[in-house]
Amino acid sequence: MSLAHESIASLRRRLASKEIHSRDIVRDLLQQIDAREKTIHAYTHLDREAALAAADKANSSLPLGGIPIAIKDNLNVLGDPCTCASKILEGYKAPYDATAIARLRQAGAVLLGRTNMDEFAMGSSTENSALGITRNPWDSSRIPGGSSGGSAAAVGGRIALAALGSDTGGSIRQPAALCGCVGLKPTYGRISRYGLVAFASSLDQIGPLTRTVEDSAILLSALAGHDPHDNTTDLRKPETFLTEKSGSVKGLRVGIPKEYFIPGMDAETEAAVRQSADWFKKNGATLVDVSLPHTPSAIAVYYILATAEASANLARFDGVRYGRRAADPRDVLDLYHRTRSEGFGPEVKRRIILGTFVLSAGYTDAYYRKAQKVRGMIRQDFEKAFASCDLLLTPTSPEPAFKLGERTQDPLKMYLADVFTISVNLAGNPAISLPCGFTKSNLPIGLQLIGPRFGEEKILQAAHAYEQGHDWHQRLPPA
Ligand code: GLN
Repeated sequence: MSLAHESIASLRRRLASKEIHSRDIVRDLLQQIDAREKTIHAYTHLDREAALAAADKANSSLPLGGIPIAIKDNLNVLGDPCTCASKILEGYKAPYDATAIARLRQAGAVLLGRTNMDEFAMGSSTENSALGITRNPWDSSRIPGGSSGGSAAAVGGRIALAALGSDTGGSIRQPAALCGCVGLKPTYGRISRYGLVAFASSLDQIGPLTRTVEDSAILLSALAGHDPHDNTTDLRKPETFLTEKSGSVKGLRVGIPKEYFIPGMDAETEAAVRQSADWFKKNGATLVDVSLPHTPSAIAVYYILATAEASANLARFDGVRYGRRAADPRDVLDLYHRTRSEGFGPEVKRRIILGTFVLSAGYTDAYYRKAQKVRGMIRQDFEKAFASCDLLLTPTSPEPAFKLGERTQDPLKMYLADVFTISVNLAGNPAISLPCGFTKSNLPIGLQLIGPRFGEEKILQAAHAYEQGHDWHQRLPPA
């Protein structure tokens, strides 16, 4: 079997015993990439020689020694392009390593290529990339989800063992669900955002996309922890996650929020998620009906707050410091205007305009401040729910992967792809998506487990137990 099909946990053991070498893994992955990347187009940048050279130098006694990991194209990797899939960052080379990248290097990982995304992480299908679309490895006429669509398609398509993504409103979990892999959005503050190109700073989190829950825990252990470069990171001591794998869900109180099973959602998705809930019950968990009453406001709140923050964060791309610069500007305003008009794609422009509007004089109270208040209510909904249960079980996405091009002309419909993931970012909680079945046409379905703040261990334990009781994660996409 190609090493490209194995989990990090198993490869780690084989590397440590010197049965295999990191170069063997990279070589097998490159072979898979040669066979599948033409169709999938998960990568925006891949330096084969550099990956092989790094593999040769890998130290297999380190926790991730010699394990190749793909990186979403919005994380700074010293000397690499960091395009955010935008024309405006054409030619830009990262001047430093993001903390998450520095931690991967310290743990011995080999960095393997940059993955495609929606421009500046704005989207749910990876169709907003200025560097071409990515296709779903299970059905190439469909989207991989977004915005970390390249990371998810690479992991689901077996052309990466694992990848980093970022999640502002669902961008790790939704593509993970649609591509049949495991995606973890950690608690806000768990992983440093230093070196992640900011979209909405109060919502952004970096997290892993992997084949298995155990691999997710391995990467989280390497990435988590305080960073003086990011004051929102938590001060608690470094933890190792999922060291004890009880495999039991006995006595667990699993909350089922009624707002997450809505009219119009895909019937096969709903059935698979309800069956997963039954599995928890059969195995000794108690199902608790809960309500998160402010859920219906989440999308509106998110599209006010995220766009407001984005309009400020993206002001720095003005042709002066980063990447693209318009040719022969008449004056400084002309430079800003033409650089931004030429450099940003339509969705990014839409968000900057929306965000500038909700922050403009006379409208801040009506939109921005009001949205902040409702965000507080959404956070309280979760706190109340966690008084009566240990974790929440929901679908990750209301439907499996849709067809390419189906929603590009209808932004509102695209925004609805995140109804089940966005509230979690607004509240700051951790959540994991893992495979829980397939539709009749062989499209993956994702199950979301949401934990209390800093409750990653709880959701990883439960997800791991569920995964061990099923074989969804072993199914391979069509060749
Ligand atoms: N799809 C959502 C958006 O377009 C979430 C994106 C994300 O999490 N980065 O904003």
